[in-house]
Amino acid sequence: ADASVFSALFDDLTDEDRALPALIDGASGAVMTYGELVGRAEAFAGALAAMGIRPGDVVGLHCPNVPAFAIAFHGILRAGATATTVNALYTPHEIEVQLRASGAVAHVTVGPLAPQSLEAAHAVGIGDDRIVVLDGLDGHPSLAELLAAGHAAPDVRIDPATHVAVMPYSSGTTGTPKGVMLSHRNLVANVAQCEPLIQLERGERVLAVLPFFHIYGMTVLLNLALRARGTLVTMPRFDLTEFLRIIQDEQVSFAFIAPPIAVALAKHPLVAEYDLSSLRTALSGAAPLDEQLGHAVADRLGIEMLQGYGMTELSPVSHVYVRGESGSTPLGSVGTVVGGTEDRIVDIESGDTIEPPEHDGLSEAGELWVRGPQVMLGYLDNPEATAETLRDDGFLRTGDMAAYDADGNVHIVDRLKELIKHKGYQVAPAELEALLLTHPAVADVAVIGVRTDDGDEDPMAFVVPVDAGAEDPDALMAWVAERVAPYKKVRRVAYVEAIPKSASGKILRKDLKAAV
Ligand code: ATP
Ligand code: MG
Repeated sequence: ADASVFSALFDDLTDEDRALPALIDGASGAVMTYGELVGRAEAFAGALAAMGIRPGDVVGLHCPNVPAFAIAFHGILRAGATATTVNALYTPHEIEVQLRASGAVAHVTVGPLAPQSLEAAHAVGIGDDRIVVLDGLDGHPSLAELLAAGHAAPDVRIDPATHVAVMPYSSGTTGTPKGVMLSHRNLVANVAQCEPLIQLERGERVLAVLPFFHIYGMTVLLNLALRARGTLVTMPRFDLTEFLRIIQDEQVSFAFIAPPIAVALAKHPLVAEYDLSSLRTALSGAAPLDEQLGHAVADRLGIEMLQGYGMTELSPVSHVYVRGESGSTPLGSVGTVVGGTEDRIVDIESGDTIEPPEHDGLSEAGELWVRGPQVMLGYLDNPEATAETLRDDGFLRTGDMAAYDADGNVHIVDRLKELIKHKGYQVAPAELEALLLTHPAVADVAVIGVRTDDGDEDPMAFVVPVDAGAEDPDALMAWVAERVAPYKKVRRVAYVEAIPKSASGKILRKDLKAAV
């Protein structure tokens, strides 16, 4: 069972598999088969070895979702090197910080990102001959040249349990993004854990809009969907019109999404203009998906809606809501742990373990802990943070508050750090956001706690209005007050044009807090 990522994914590739499309460029329709992908990744690995890249060396990868990303990614891993994937939206300074911290000795990018990438790579002393520009740029190796050199893949032997395959960064929602060390075993285990639950079908079209550089897209798209011999249809960035067009034209049947996409699918009038009948399932992760929102998407599109929970430190998946369970869909839940994984919900004050309730409703909430083969090796260069997060008994403290229902399903309440403390009560921003999203005048919303003069915190909502010009904050606050306990009332409202969100689909509350 212990293998490198490349072996686990591709060693048993059959001749029929080779002919199947592995990736389709959503913009151009260009197709890459499994045979081509694997052959090119091996040649890419050979080229890296010829450049002097050795097992354990770190290679930066700064590239939006295009088919060539998969060649570079699996080529780097096949060479025994460690890929540190860089957010496509990063500035030169942010890229430089990541390349320096990870000790990158080579870097891979694309023409449109070359200005930022080259500045950063040069700043950390990577030479032009080791900065690959996949689609070609004078003075740099290109993918075409590297493949034409025809180097055989090197013979590498690594220990999957300890060898770092990737060092992606966390999303930076709560602070500075953290480099996370994930082994080959971590990634292989997580694919095996997701396979029986997510059940992608051979040959089915899977929309690849979630960024490959983030752990969610990396594991469920580049690893899980390719393991299943599905076909990834790539989109370099989210754009609703293009998203809908690609589902229609490329007959996409499975979409991995995040809540901001779910909001658009539930509310936007454009959705009605496309034939989305090929779509059977969408799975949302990365941030809280409210139950009503989930049902709204499922009903409007006539699809099955699933939800998963995870974090970079968990490779990322620890919980998935499994389809076909009896009774109503608990879409507000992230389900139960994936195979080989244990969870525990721990009372913050007493440290006691919280059990599922015996009757309807939810248990008390506490911090969610997870233990399993997908738990990271540690944070890069940050032993204090590693020690705080990873306990000696192997449990990872997620920093998320969660509760059980009577069936043992886990319901994520919100992040511990983001709970608003109002007069001794705790208010979850996610709960107020979910409620506000059901208001017809609200197109999008984020809630934060703002300090009051007496040192307390008040819930404040940032609202994107459906109709600019028809804002009525008092009416909106009164509407909320009719529906929640008094301590949860929204006490301030600001109207904004857009809610700041990360590339992985999370509300950047720290940006809103800084703006207050
Ligand atoms: P940082 O750790 O840098 O502050 P981040 O935690 O957002 O950023 P990620 O590792 O990308 O970085 O995200 C993991 C977090 O995403 C989880 O801890 C959780 O708060 C949130 N999350 C993921 N899936 C879900 C979900 N289904 N429901 C609610 N929250 C989720
Ligand atoms: Mg985090």
